[in-house]
Amino acid sequence: MDAKYEMHLSYLKDHDSAIFNAIVAEKERQMDGIELIPSENLVSQGVLEAMGSVPNNKYSEGYPGKRYYGGNEIIDIIENLAIDRLKKLFGAEHANVQPNSGSPANMAAYFALMELGDTFMGMKLTEGGHLTHGHKVNFSGKLYKCKQYGVDKETEMIDYDTVLKQAKEIKPKLILSGYTAYPRSIDFKRFREICDEVGAFCMADIAHIAGLCAGGAHENPVPYFDVVTTTTHKTLRGPRSAVIMCKGEFAEKIDKAVFPGLQGGPHEHTIAAKAVAFKEAQTPEFRDYSAQIVKNAKAMAEELMALGLRLVSNGTDNHLMLVDVFKSKNLTGKEAEHALEVAGIYCNKNTIPFDERTPWDPSGIRIGTPVLTTRGMKESEMKEVARFIAKALDNAKDEAKLRQIKADIKEFCSGFPFYK
Ligand SMILES: *Cc1c(COP(=O)(O)O)cnc(C)c1O
Repeated sequence: MDAKYEMHLSYLKDHDSAIFNAIVAEKERQMDGIELIPSENLVSQGVLEAMGSVPNNKYSEGYPGKRYYGGNEIIDIIENLAIDRLKKLFGAEHANVQPNSGSPANMAAYFALMELGDTFMGMKLTEGGHLTHGHKVNFSGKLYKCKQYGVDKETEMIDYDTVLKQAKEIKPKLILSGYTAYPRSIDFKRFREICDEVGAFCMADIAHIAGLCAGGAHENPVPYFDVVTTTTHKTLRGPRSAVIMCKGEFAEKIDKAVFPGLQGGPHEHTIAAKAVAFKEAQTPEFRDYSAQIVKNAKAMAEELMALGLRLVSNGTDNHLMLVDVFKSKNLTGKEAEHALEVAGIYCNKNTIPFDERTPWDPSGIRIGTPVLTTRGMKESEMKEVARFIAKALDNAKDEAKLRQIKADIKEFCSGFPFYK
């Protein structure tokens, strides 16, 4: 992927300087700092162009060939391209490209597969699950009965025998795998077996790892799972949006759940941008990219551990790591996130398994390599980034030192331009 893109904002520059200046400042922040939030990425010029295009103007409720508005001949071409490319990319029998984001995609999938009040199993938020995986403050925990599983206290990884034992007791209608803060590979085949054994629908939310699944760096559950949801803006490197893939037998239910069940008019400019991203993800370059994300994460993990930082589960198999900053550096997650931000390193505070602190100020931070890998960085740069992280954490209370690190990081990042 060509790492040098222009930002085309000439009209805004002349007509709305407040927004123009803010967008340019945000672009500079993205370019001058080390972006480690594992759910973020930098999209291509093609994705940006499609997102800023005229299909935005169209109402197209319904699906290709059966719309509730006239004038959708060309919109159908766009949406069918997105559907066909997505099916090919993941080997899906059916695809719905209309969900506006990850959370509504999950809501639509639950609407399709369960009755309100049904019981399902998802991972605890504090051990890697997402809010929409049954947390009590979220619709998923309010509209359904969620029984949550977690990780093993010793290994900090999923113990599949324990999940099976729980599933036999709970008899859920659906078991959800796929997480937001789990640094290890997921044994999707095992989840399929567990679901078959207890007669549950088998669903995955691969929002974080979709790019790895598409690029061959993680097992892809789509061909043998009932329903798979994913965002398109994380490792998949597309626009801020989502999709649902499923077996043919669930196609009608999924489509009806998205529209008219949940959403109104689809965002066809974003669907065009998704189609662009799916084409990019079919290239050999993207396969290399997804493999490099994992190599980079492993290199960063090794160096962080060598520098005395404890990683949850002692490492990573994917694009992300959880660092136990409380145990390693006597800093809370909130303090660590703040110190790193002052130094120009962006991450998010995160609970670690069996955290004794609160989600507002937990023991850990979550970091990952998708953005830095998109910028063209390799293993040696990951080791340098690990040293920046350790240095910032060691100087967490020294503003002047943190600002010096920020200047060094700006210099370091200028070697990896992306948006000009
Ligand atoms: C990011 C994420 C979502 C939610 O996506 P939004 O687009 O922010 O609504 C859902 N599930 C998982 C596992 C995620 O990581």
